[in-house]
Amino acid sequence: MPRYRGSAAPAFSCNGSPSGLEVPVLPVEPLGAIRVVTSATRLPRVTISASTDDEAEAAEELAEWLWLNEVERPFLVVSAHGRQLVDRITRVVGTAVPGPHATQGWARSCSGTARGADAVVAVGGGRCLDAAKLVAAGAGIPLAAVPTQLSHDGVCSPVSVLPQTVGGLTESLEAVAPHVAFFSLPTLIRAPISSLRAGIGDLLANPLALHDWKLASDAGLERINHAGWHLSAESFRLIEPLLEEPLGRERVEPWLIGLLAHALVDSGLAMLMVGTSRPVSGAEHKISHAIDELFGGRAHHGAQVAFASLVSVALHGLDIEGFRRCLVNLGLPHHPRQLGLSHHDMVEVLLRAPNTRPGRFTILELAALEAPEASVLVRSLWPQG
Ligand SMILES: [Zn+2]
Repeated sequence: MPRYRGSAAPAFSCNGSPSGLEVPVLPVEPLGAIRVVTSATRLPRVTISASTDDEAEAAEELAEWLWLNEVERPFLVVSAHGRQLVDRITRVVGTAVPGPHATQGWARSCSGTARGADAVVAVGGGRCLDAAKLVAAGAGIPLAAVPTQLSHDGVCSPVSVLPQTVGGLTESLEAVAPHVAFFSLPTLIRAPISSLRAGIGDLLANPLALHDWKLASDAGLERINHAGWHLSAESFRLIEPLLEEPLGRERVEPWLIGLLAHALVDSGLAMLMVGTSRPVSGAEHKISHAIDELFGGRAHHGAQVAFASLVSVALHGLDIEGFRRCLVNLGLPHHPRQLGLSHHDMVEVLLRAPNTRPGRFTILELAALEAPEASVLVRSLWPQG
């Protein structure tokens, strides 16, 4: 196995994109390798609210939208940010508030009451949606998702990431993907800008995950699903124009929210098509998971993934400085100390990362870093320690 020796291996050429990222060319495969999306793969229907600044109006729209989608007796899973949005929903069977410490057990305990409903309606952030996916799975009913922030691409995925116990390690569980999703512009536009930055950050992983997927395909370990590949690439291309200028609050307008919502949904659909997170999650997600496991989450998932992408960019031989500028523009972490991590911590993270998802071949497995090489890599990316 080739090992990282301190100089970035030019595994792929760089086309000079200002973000330092490039989408690799889709490998040509025999027709048999193309997995056709079957009717069993149900893609969620997505609606973006017409109202751009009045949340009470968006709440009206949401109530009507649920009715149109034949949700007549909902069980609500609502976080604090979603309270105003659910005001106009009627015939509610029950309401659960997951809070920051919702666990798998908490979600299971809600499923009994939810069985009397015709759908679970999740209105809130990532933890709320993750909990609702498990509630819906336990109750055996569909899920309608109403995200109140755009911090990651899991809104439309069937995966629920929740801890088993309070403060315990999170696990990714197969649950229920929403069959419909509603994006309230006035709610999303008021969400903390850190969540928007994280949402864009999660999408920076897509071209890198495709590079990793190509590596696995070249090694004969996996086959490429073309539909999943294109959706992942397209969702990155949608947000690419946002990467070149500083992202301040003044740039957060309805069109930007709509664009990011579409990109995150497409990224989630890429996962649904393939049945795994492969098209949007490679070495950079393994590094972020290793940070979670060793030191606990230090930032939004998408922000950690964006930071970790710097390592992938280096290992893939892409434009490190271009990508670093992109992270600075987006206000995303670009140095370990912004996550409270030392040089030694980062070496530990890189050594742990391959074990966070055994069986997924990425540039990390190809580089096969041991402590001295990991230390050289960390020093080359952050010489100031
Ligand atoms: Zn992610």
